[in-house]
Amino acid sequence: MRFTSTRGGEKAITSSEAIINGISKDGGLYVPLSFPNLFDKVKDKYNMTYEEISFEVIKEFFTDFTDEEIQSAINKAYTYRFKVIEEKNFLELYHGPTSAFKDAALLFLPQIMSLSKKKLKVKEEIVILAATSGDTGKAALEGFRDVDGFRVMVYYPNDGVSAVQEKQMVTQEGANVRVVGINGNFDDAQRGVKEIFGDIEFKEDLLQMGFRLSSANSINIGRLVPQIIYYFYGYFQLVNKQKIKLGDKINVVVPTGNFGNILASYYAKEMGLPIAKFICASNENKVLADFFNEGVYDKRRELILTESPSMDILVSSNLERLLFEASGRDENIIKSLMKDLNEKGVYEVSKSIKDFLKDFYGDSASTDEVYKAIRDLYEKEGYLIDTHTAVGQVVLEKYQRATNDTTEYLIASTASPYKFPRSITKALGIDVEGVDDFEVIKKLNEFCKISIPDNLKDLDKKAVLHNFKSEKNALKDALLKYLKEEPNV
Ligand SMILES: *Cc1c(COP(=O)(O)O)cnc(C)c1O
Repeated sequence: MRFTSTRGGEKAITSSEAIINGISKDGGLYVPLSFPNLFDKVKDKYNMTYEEISFEVIKEFFTDFTDEEIQSAINKAYTYRFKVIEEKNFLELYHGPTSAFKDAALLFLPQIMSLSKKKLKVKEEIVILAATSGDTGKAALEGFRDVDGFRVMVYYPNDGVSAVQEKQMVTQEGANVRVVGINGNFDDAQRGVKEIFGDIEFKEDLLQMGFRLSSANSINIGRLVPQIIYYFYGYFQLVNKQKIKLGDKINVVVPTGNFGNILASYYAKEMGLPIAKFICASNENKVLADFFNEGVYDKRRELILTESPSMDILVSSNLERLLFEASGRDENIIKSLMKDLNEKGVYEVSKSIKDFLKDFYGDSASTDEVYKAIRDLYEKEGYLIDTHTAVGQVVLEKYQRATNDTTEYLIASTASPYKFPRSITKALGIDVEGVDDFEVIKKLNEFCKISIPDNLKDLDKKAVLHNFKSEKNALKDALLKYLKEEPNV
């Protein structure tokens, strides 16, 4: 399997190159040259374990590696660390070390990056830099901790992450990780990291010291491919539970931000998985919902801070990969759309692209609708979902009312409700005024009796291992300090 850039600047590179580069030199995203039909090949083995399906999916794309290498990467990433559970048509993707679905991709990425590094004989230690508003940073830390040949440096805004998120990060274990709080907001952190990546001289100096910078960005193809797995697994779960027959079509409902998760479901369909509709659920930042309805992508609007913060985003990078397929793999169309987005903040797609996207349904959910969906589902079924997943639930209901479509479905359930305990208690009407976040978790547990994930249990009692602070314009210094010292064991 080879990979090509959506903007045409690179063609037919290997999987290791695509994984190590992350993003193409022309600014485009790497996509596989074709989608092998996996469904027909594996459909008779529908009781495969998650690890077994992982093996089948991954070896179709990452062909630079031996079966043994891939098997070992999967075991290190997932065994005893991550599992997927289907429950009431919710595909729970949050049973991992950080209780959110980014674990599915960020546990595997370091393993395949490490193999790629060996294959390409990259000698330098790779330093993963990340600015985080909470969840991605923690998931990257967990994924890369103690992976040979890598270090991780995470910057988070002192005033911009929740108490639970901060505690999750500053208690991070591992001999190759560092977490630094900066006095500024998320934009300051992100700007600082971008500046480092853009500083050619500084990167040259680091190379001399034996370090190469990289990111765990969600557009890396090494993060996208592992997300295809859970749609195959979820589909087969529905078969095993006799909710559908092998070959029946299902709909998928995905609470969407950067468009990675829902794109992976589309890739699964390209590999033969029977999916009818892709229901793209947005929060109040409904750029995507508007796009699927009108054919116009318009980011010229204020970012709204919602109760589903991991979806507060105006530019959904991975949409570029879908547009590439929708345009008949025409790099010139993609270049021109992305130029419009960059220069004007808006683009409009042609009628033929719009027709191609007819299986995508987009709609959005307001905060009140989210609260109501959480409360209703809990009262009727005793089943608790988080605020991101609730966006999916609301949009599914809107879709069903609009179409009367009764097709079986899977809703991607992207985070544990304990990850956003204050919002959930509010939705359920539990009084937590004047109570700190750690107590809120306990109150929620007393109320619903659903067990608290290990990584969030007794978090307030864990030892702080990272007490590092930096001024918002001194991120480079903080990095150098870390790299020159011995790893903080
Ligand atoms: C990242 C995230 C999403 C959005 O997923 P995308 O792949 O960016 O569309 C939804 N829910 C949660 C909890 C997330 O962390």
